[in-house]
Amino acid sequence: MNKATRKAVIAGNWKMNMTPSEALKLVSELIPAVQGKNGCEIVVCVPFVDIPAVVAAANGTPVKVGAQNVHFMESGAYTGEISASMLKECGVEYVVIGHSERRQYFGETDETVNLRLKAALAAGLTPILCVGELLTERDQGITAEVVSKQTKVALLGVAPEDARRVIIAYEPVWAIGTGRTATSEQADEVCGIIRAVLADLYGKDTAEAVTIQYGGSMKPSNAAELLAQYNVDGGLIGGASLKASDFTAIIDAAQ
Ligand code: PEP
Repeated sequence: MNKATRKAVIAGNWKMNMTPSEALKLVSELIPAVQGKNGCEIVVCVPFVDIPAVVAAANGTPVKVGAQNVHFMESGAYTGEISASMLKECGVEYVVIGHSERRQYFGETDETVNLRLKAALAAGLTPILCVGELLTERDQGITAEVVSKQTKVALLGVAPEDARRVIIAYEPVWAIGTGRTATSEQADEVCGIIRAVLADLYGKDTAEAVTIQYGGSMKPSNAAELLAQYNVDGGLIGGASLKASDFTAIIDAAQ
C-alpha cells in the first residue's frame, strides 16, 4: 500500500453545532453536491441527537455518519453516556475518539482513549483517533514524543488486523479552530512520524495501509496542498464542515 492505494477520508466534525432540523438542512445541501465523488470517503460526525435524522437522510448516498465520542463500557450505570452498540444500531459507522477538546475540557486521557478505541473496534465502528501536540509542546521541540506516546497508548492491546481499521487524525491543538494551519511540510512530517510509530508496532505493511488525516483549520484554500502530502490521507474538518459549499470544495480537493 502507498498513498495511491490508501483510503482517503474527508470527515467533518460538527462539534456542538446543528440542531436536528439544521442538520437535515446541511446534509440535504451536501448530498447532491457530493454525488459521484468517489475519490474519497465522506463522513459527517454529528451530535448524538442528530444521528437518526442524518442517518436516514444519508442512507444510500456517499455520505457516511460518525459520532463524536463513545463510552467504553457496554452498558450499565453510566448516566449520560452512549455505548458503541447504541451507535452501531443507529447506523453510525465512524466515531471520533480523543479529540483535543475532549482531552482539554472533559478529562480525556490517553488511557480512556485506549478503552474507547477498543470498545469502538469491538462493536465494528471505525475509530477516528485524534492525536496532536499543544503549542507549548511544539515550542519545546517535543511534538514527536507527544504524538508517539498518544498513538502508542491509544493502540495498547489492539491487534494488527484491528489497527488497520483505525483512522488517525493528526490535529495540532494550536491549529484547531484558530485559523492557524500547520504548513504542509509540518503536517506531512508529523503524519510520517505517526506512520513510523505504526511501523514499529505493527510492521511496514500495516503502517502503509493506515489512513492518517490532518486536521486543524483545513479549508478550501489550503486543502489541496495539505492533501497532496505523501503521509496525509484526508482531513478532519471542523469549522469548514458546517458550510456545504466549503466542505464540498475540500472533498473536491481530495478527488
Ligand atoms: C476539529 O474540530 O477537529 C478541527 C480540525 O476544527 P477546525 O477545522 O475548525 O480547526
